[in-house]
Amino acid sequence: MSGIRLRSYSGHVYRFDPGALCLELLVTGGPGALIRHEVLHTPEDLVRWADQSRLSPTPPALRITDDDVAYARRLRDALARTVVSRVCGGGLPELGIEPADAADLDLVNEAAARPPLAPAIGADGSRGWADGPATGAQLLSTVARDAVDLLTGPYAQRIRMCAGDRCYLLYVDTSRPGRRRWCSMEHCGNRHKVRAHRVRRSGVEPAEQSGGDWPSSRAEVPAKG
Ligand SMILES: [Zn+2]
Repeated sequence: MSGIRLRSYSGHVYRFDPGALCLELLVTGGPGALIRHEVLHTPEDLVRWADQSRLSPTPPALRITDDDVAYARRLRDALARTVVSRVCGGGLPELGIEPADAADLDLVNEAAARPPLAPAIGADGSRGWADGPATGAQLLSTVARDAVDLLTGPYAQRIRMCAGDRCYLLYVDTSRPGRRRWCSMEHCGNRHKVRAHRVRRSGVEPAEQSGGDWPSSRAEVPAKG
């Protein structure tokens, strides 16, 4: 199944497929208030993220250092500001996210300039990764190159934020009709359906739930294995 497992504040676990590798990194935490969702603390955390991401199958023998983890967090925060600025036309004050600046693009470009992971084709035609050790710098180069491709490619205008109440998850809508509105049908899409149904039955807009999922969701850190 594609998508990163997320857990909402109400404890509901669901899958979120943001449609691009670079956007998958954004659910691991972020700048401003998103720091409370930080899940990248150790090299093992970064490997676990790679396992869950669309890179899967994960490159064999990924060698990640503590410095790589710190760099991953910086790259992620720069990407978050860059994408939020594209989508919102500036920062996102309610989450304390500043607009992107030149240093953010410099960091993305610096990461992209390094050698990426080497792809490989298997005897059965499946896609995988070259044998042998792969570094954190290669992993993050692959993420940064994906961001350059996304932000300059045919879907650059299709990057959006979930329309759910207080949900700030970012995705790229690659569907042909281009009408994707939700991070996930089973989460915000369903919450919207339930709410719309209640409104139809009672004719009254339900009061905003207090203490809801703010800011929506955090990545679940699954147990190893
Ligand atoms: Zn949502």
